[in-house]
Amino acid sequence: LGMLLCLGYAIWPHVAWQLAFVGVMATVTSDTWATEFGSLSRKPPRSVLTGKVLAPGTSGGVSVLGTAAALAGGILIGIGAWGFGHAVGMPELPLWLWALIGGISGSAGAFADSYLGATVQLMRSCPVCKREVEVDTHCGQTTVYMRGWHWMSNDRVNSISSIFGGLVALAGIFFIL
Ligand SMILES: [Zn+2]
Repeated sequence: LGMLLCLGYAIWPHVAWQLAFVGVMATVTSDTWATEFGSLSRKPPRSVLTGKVLAPGTSGGVSVLGTAAALAGGILIGIGAWGFGHAVGMPELPLWLWALIGGISGSAGAFADSYLGATVQLMRSCPVCKREVEVDTHCGQTTVYMRGWHWMSNDRVNSISSIFGGLVALAGIFFIL
């Protein structure tokens, strides 16, 4: 997705491509940071849908620490966009605006990921350790269907969330032009 947006910019240079690119990268970064740092939270995550307490790392769970990490990851991408744009002389937006766009779009994308994880993402259960998993094989055994749409794998959820984050960032264009 990032490469397609880069090609778009190469063919028709416009700040819109940059915004969408930042939104996509902010989302994947926010999602990763939220999962990794959120797992360190001493308080267990809660379902983004029902508020029910979940096991750490479960798709669809959110925590304060994870949300803060998502925001920080998005802001970092925004700052990076400003820095690299500055270095190569691409059309510049101010640092604060890039940071704001990265933070908002990354958080929005990560929340979209959690929402899809809690609703339609394919979840399977491991017959050995009884954990909710996203993979076909766990603990050396074939996992069992639990819930969700069969085609809505974790990868598809990530793709859709990234596109969503990109669109959120793209909406920032109304504040620029
Ligand atoms: Zn297992």
